[in-house]
Amino acid sequence: MALIVQKYGGTSVGDTDRILNVAKKVKALYDKGNQLVVVVSARGGVTNELVARAKTLNAEPDQREMDMLLAVGEQETIALTAIALHSLGMPAVSRTGGQAGILTDPAHTKARIMDISGGDIAAQVKAGKVVIVAGFQGVNAHGEVTTLGRGGSDLTAIALAYAVKADECQIFTDVDGIYSADPRIVPAARKINEISYEELLEMAASGSKVMQPRSVEFAQKFNVQFEVRSSFNDNPGTLVKAEAPSMEDIVVSGVAVDKNQTKITVSELPDKPGMAAQIFERLAQSGVIVDMIIQNVGRGGKANLSFTVNRDDRKKAEGTMNALFKELGGGKLDPSYDVVKLSVVGVGMRSHSGVAAKFFSTLASNAVNILMISTSEIKIAVAITPEDADKAANAVHAAFGLNAK
Ligand code: ASP
Ligand code: MG
Repeated sequence: MALIVQKYGGTSVGDTDRILNVAKKVKALYDKGNQLVVVVSARGGVTNELVARAKTLNAEPDQREMDMLLAVGEQETIALTAIALHSLGMPAVSRTGGQAGILTDPAHTKARIMDISGGDIAAQVKAGKVVIVAGFQGVNAHGEVTTLGRGGSDLTAIALAYAVKADECQIFTDVDGIYSADPRIVPAARKINEISYEELLEMAASGSKVMQPRSVEFAQKFNVQFEVRSSFNDNPGTLVKAEAPSMEDIVVSGVAVDKNQTKITVSELPDKPGMAAQIFERLAQSGVIVDMIIQNVGRGGKANLSFTVNRDDRKKAEGTMNALFKELGGGKLDPSYDVVKLSVVGVGMRSHSGVAAKFFSTLASNAVNILMISTSEIKIAVAITPEDADKAANAVHAAFGLNAK
């Protein structure tokens, strides 16, 4: 007998048939003597629909009211899931985030969890009930409904698993687990059996979107091991856990492709101390997140520097730079263009050399030009042109021996 926290994402609860399918899966485990806490997302597409509806009324809707609105999506699903379980003769009860004791800071639409008591979940479970909890939502100290940022149901599940000291935490989604690359880009990608929190975080930061990154950070901080698996079959998924020594035998675990970057180049800057500081301070103040950076050698007292930002932030970044040039009385923008970030990730890099050499020589032999490079302890990333992206991802995936056998 185990206490299991499960989470079902939007596709897994997309309609009443699928909700009934979830209820059957829950019942099967319950009938084997397990205790279950089940976190659910809004039906797929509902949160986006609610956002769009608000925006037809006001381009910048009030954040508190957005939370009131968005929390509705998950509340629909908890009730329907409980009702589906009842229809199978199962004892089940639903709980909102607030009722589950998820206390957050006041930051509407991106609240952080301050404390999680679990409310009466433990008592309900002990009394034999399956407890269905609304993902993505909490309450702040004033009892106001908050939400945890898009994709936040993952965080609810992992935080609850920690709070109730679950024996297992399972994240059910529409894919079989974490893949060595996005199979839509790299058809030879394969499911990874085990991956460390850190690698999954790097993969997420590098453009692969299976889990909400904040939830993985939480799992890492509190060492909440979890499994990502499909709700549509019984295949084992990917176990996400603390780094194990054996993981170092595999040098590269995955290849990530982020097709959402723009490269911005600033030239003709006065080449003196403090320039980079001013540029990145201004960008930070404008809320622009900068990813890769290169500074070129200054010539004739002028410096130039390039960085990448999310494509959606291109206009904002350019505007911020133009405003700064006015104040400095110098500097200009070269034309910005879209790039793709290709990353290789693996904890094995810590103990193996030659990863960069292999990565770059694979790109070279495929005639892929490297525009920028950045590294961390367990990741090497390059910016390349969008035309090269798919070819490069497939070649690198094969070169590191990741292709499915
Ligand atoms: N429904 C929310 C969203 O779409 C939370 C989640 O699905 O995890 O972002
Ligand atoms: Mg999700």
